[in-house]
Amino acid sequence: MRIGRALVDGAPHSIVVLGDGGDGAEVAILPQDSPTPDDVVRDPTARQAARRDADRAPRTTVDELTLLRPLTRFNRDILCTGWNYWDHFEESHGKREGQDPKERPIHPTFFTKGPLTVIGPRDAIAFDPALSSTWDYEAELALVIGRPGRSIPEERALDHVVGYLVANDVSQRDLQRAHGGQWLKGKSIDATMPLGPWVTTADDVDDVQDLQISFELNGHELQRARTGQMAFTVAQIIAELSAGMTLLPGDVVLTGTPSGIGNARDPQVFLAAGDELVTRVDGLGELRNHVQYTELTAYSTGAITP
Ligand code: MG
Repeated sequence: MRIGRALVDGAPHSIVVLGDGGDGAEVAILPQDSPTPDDVVRDPTARQAARRDADRAPRTTVDELTLLRPLTRFNRDILCTGWNYWDHFEESHGKREGQDPKERPIHPTFFTKGPLTVIGPRDAIAFDPALSSTWDYEAELALVIGRPGRSIPEERALDHVVGYLVANDVSQRDLQRAHGGQWLKGKSIDATMPLGPWVTTADDVDDVQDLQISFELNGHELQRARTGQMAFTVAQIIAELSAGMTLLPGDVVLTGTPSGIGNARDPQVFLAAGDELVTRVDGLGELRNHVQYTELTAYSTGAITP
């Protein structure tokens, strides 16, 4: 099942995308009281109810809809994996301004992003050049945990995944470097991480280690890889992340980006207002976002609502 959210006649509804979700795909519009993707990832009975509602629901096509963020209820920060494709690890060698490890890590590298980063599959990516001059892109496969677990064995790890999405871990490289060698600050700027376009449940993904991931900036392809090139598999990531640390239904985990990021290019490529981004994982759909000037450096008492 592919379950997302969309505006229908001005009101948010859950939708179930039929087929593989490509252009022109048929979509069932669920009643307003039907389970949301946030419900579905946490509760197997909600999953069954959404399937039943979809069978009886009116249909349209995906192109007719304004897609919204599929997930809005977060238990905590988005859990992220760094340097998970060796080609990306190597391309950035000597370009990390003092953050270079001496050798390849033997465990996955983890960090987090604040949940206020999350925007929908068609939303504007906030951009303020007064905050950072090095806005970068990172196409990634994301997963959602559906069953709680601590110290999950690798061979059981995929049983804990309820679904997969596409993400772009937009990063501010100068903020990554400026605050004590951490990553949090350069990964947590409001309204900068597209996630979606919907949750594809794990039963609709044949082999998560054989998916194609790609990224286009203004029509030029800058990243393309297969998830089989990951340094640490999805199962290894879950096993290591959950060691002594309970993962909960609804937790979102990003699995790292392949080579081709802007910071490692020669010449470097950084995002600017007006840029058009397409982030795609075949079978999971695509994110189409644009970069939009948004004042982020002025004092504000409210979050940005996508
Ligand atoms: Mg990343």
